Amino acid sequence: MSLPEHGRDLAGLLTELAALKSDDLPVRGGKVTAYVYDTGRPEIHDAAHRAYAEMLEVNMLDPTAFPSMVALEKQVVGAVADLLGAPGAPGIFTSGGTESIMLAVKAARDLTGRREIVAPVTAHPAFHKAAHYLGLEVVPVPVDLETYKVDPGAVEAALTDRTALVVVSAPAYPQGVIDPVAEVAALAAGRGVPCHVDACVGGWLLPWLRDAGAEVPPFDLSVPGVTSISCDLHKYGYAPKGASVVLFRDAQMRRAAYFASAAWPGYTVINATAQSSRSAGPLGGAWATLLSLGANGYRELGRAALEATRKLVAGIAEIPGLRVLGEPESSIVSFAGSAEVDVFVLADEARRRGWFLQPQLSYAGIPANIHITVTGVTLDGVAAMLAVIKESADAARLRGPADVPAGLPELIATLDLTALDDAAFGELAASVGVDLTAGGQPEMAVVNTILDALPPATREAILVRFLSVLYS
Ligand SMILES: *Cc1c(COP(=O)(O)O)cnc(C)c1O
Repeated sequence: MSLPEHGRDLAGLLTELAALKSDDLPVRGGKVTAYVYDTGRPEIHDAAHRAYAEMLEVNMLDPTAFPSMVALEKQVVGAVADLLGAPGAPGIFTSGGTESIMLAVKAARDLTGRREIVAPVTAHPAFHKAAHYLGLEVVPVPVDLETYKVDPGAVEAALTDRTALVVVSAPAYPQGVIDPVAEVAALAAGRGVPCHVDACVGGWLLPWLRDAGAEVPPFDLSVPGVTSISCDLHKYGYAPKGASVVLFRDAQMRRAAYFASAAWPGYTVINATAQSSRSAGPLGGAWATLLSLGANGYRELGRAALEATRKLVAGIAEIPGLRVLGEPESSIVSFAGSAEVDVFVLADEARRRGWFLQPQLSYAGIPANIHITVTGVTLDGVAAMLAVIKESADAARLRGPADVPAGLPELIATLDLTALDDAAFGELAASVGVDLTAGGQPEMAVVNTILDALPPATREAILVRFLSVLYS
């Protein structure tokens, strides 16, 4: 865009935004089963928007200039510490799970002086990102291919005197199952190694599911050996994006997550997070969401999500050619296809019917599958969701797997991707019928089938190219 000489009026800007958003997936209504978390109660989101706007221009850069944000952050962190088994535990409000994990990794690195993260293969890529940014290495540990949980024995075998941090997830995002937190944390404690529980998706969910009758093993800071835990409020806290909390066992560990610099002639820098100047809007939004819903509101959302999950699992089990992976222990469900039903084609068929189901590529022995994050609003639409999955599976059975030119993945695997410019990459994509410049609802089955056939490092190289073309 080139900047207009004279400013435009608000009504025109809002009309333009609405038009731009017309191709977006809907953030409300439960037809998008990843990325968004809808309570189904507009007044709750409205309260969050108002509080977000109220705090929008407060800069969290300087806590002495804006004491309101310190007070709000103490309340929000305090609520998370209460729920996660350690009232009064020190914590930090961050912009999201990735940043919470980044800070937990930094604290562990700086306290131990070591450089390896031992993590199950199902752990979130945020650990790989933290390792990449902070100069550590991830030591992957396989999971059991029936339960999708990490085997404590395999974790023990991976521990060395280089281990800075051991990771478990509660639950892991891909299959929604909870790693054996107590066993792994005890092993870590026995070796004097910090143990992080990634409860980004489950931290503000599992306690409410437990209240609703789900069997949830101990997973939080009350478990001996757990030294930090991350909990995203912008997931099952239903807060607007930009809201997560990382809690630490003690204040010394939190200090190791902080950063200060006086190495320049400007203002002194004291940062609790990776960001420096940042809006207090997300903090206001999270605070208002927690207080508007209250424990009772979350308990009710948890009950609805649990009931919807049970119906979904039972319903999927009855659809020929599909099978639920593992035994979902939260309100996340993943299911694989079969020789007859290709899950990538199924996802495209569902999208054509107005539903977004999230495809997951095969990895470390886990087959390609579809991920569904069940939320509070899912219950009302669970019959419709099952009907769409059934119809989409039938359609996928008729269509068969995506048509990928023979030998193409092998060819791509041998290409020097760094030698292709974005235009050449776009042409390569177009040659298999993928138009990277078109908006709307792309047919992703071809892309996913090709990616699925490639080793992870090549997948990553392609994804970076894809993003670059998308923005050029
Ligand atoms: C979502 C998620 C993350 C990353 O969180 P972001 O808020 O997207 O940065 C990390 N771990 C798990 C288990 C998650 O579900």
